[in-house]
Amino acid sequence: MDYQYEEIAAAAKQLKEKLAGLEDKRSILRAPELGSLYAQIKNLPAEIRASFGQEVNKLKNELEELVRESTQPKIELPLIDVTAPFDVNVPTDKKPQLLPAENSSRHPLMVERDKIIEIFARMGLTAVESRQIDDDYHMFTALNFPEGHPARDDYDTFTTEEGLFAPAHTSTMQNRVLKKYKSNLEKDKAIAVIIPDRVFRNEDLDARHEHTFYQVEGVYVDKGIHAGHLVATIRAWLSSYYEKEMKIKTQPYYFPFTEPSFEFAASCPFCEQKGCNVCSYSGWIELGGCGMIHPHVLREAGIDSSKYTGFAWGFGIERLVMLKYNIEDIRHFESANLKFLRQFS
Ligand SMILES: [Zn+2]
Repeated sequence: MDYQYEEIAAAAKQLKEKLAGLEDKRSILRAPELGSLYAQIKNLPAEIRASFGQEVNKLKNELEELVRESTQPKIELPLIDVTAPFDVNVPTDKKPQLLPAENSSRHPLMVERDKIIEIFARMGLTAVESRQIDDDYHMFTALNFPEGHPARDDYDTFTTEEGLFAPAHTSTMQNRVLKKYKSNLEKDKAIAVIIPDRVFRNEDLDARHEHTFYQVEGVYVDKGIHAGHLVATIRAWLSSYYEKEMKIKTQPYYFPFTEPSFEFAASCPFCEQKGCNVCSYSGWIELGGCGMIHPHVLREAGIDSSKYTGFAWGFGIERLVMLKYNIEDIRHFESANLKFLRQFS
């Protein structure tokens, strides 16, 4: 900092040198050099009194700033881009912590989502993040929904003025992951991906329907894959997630992007299939849809459907978690209700 009065400039130099050697940095503000500058002000000719006074104040401010800097502990924080998406495969405790979390806990859905990712990681499937906004091509066209097809109506979601969608299912990522990982097939490796992410529906809300929820999509493609692999894969991961042997059952259904398509039910984990109110006394609980990936969907991604086959599924994560902990209303998850959240902390 420059000082126009020589006397102040000299005092500034002296005081800064003195500061460096001081143990109690704050004592510099009581230094006699500074005090004598202040004492002079009242004896100065009126025309320079104001500007001299301002410079003495400037010097005092500079010293205060130096004291503050030297007494604050230096914290070296790694540079992070807070807007960057995180790789979903990185466990939460390995991600940068943006806020102190000593008195908080993770949202139960995120805890369960990580468990799901971990089970699939052990089974050799990589997690891929979805998008919060997507286009008509990825939501419908690439998935074998021709324009004007009535099945499009089952995926009523929110749209932007530009005609983009808040994705109604994680299948919007299928075309992308098939394209991204199809080089695996040439190396005799399978395409083995899960997409655990947020989806949106324009729903009438009730205990089982929410406008925002999570799905876990699975996509597996290789030579000689058939529906038996699909059923075995889902049974293995459900048994691992619920920590008990699960029975499963499929029944024919219709999705444009799988052929054949199935609805998928698991044995009720509460009543050992004796019947209870959770399973409406049927012994089975509907969990989601699945099927063999339609050849059109494979071909759209440039995969030879005469050589390779694959399966896909989509389950609602809230539904899985509700079953696991006997939660009666899906709306608790988005409610930010601390009474609900603290039960899981
Ligand atoms: Zn039951």
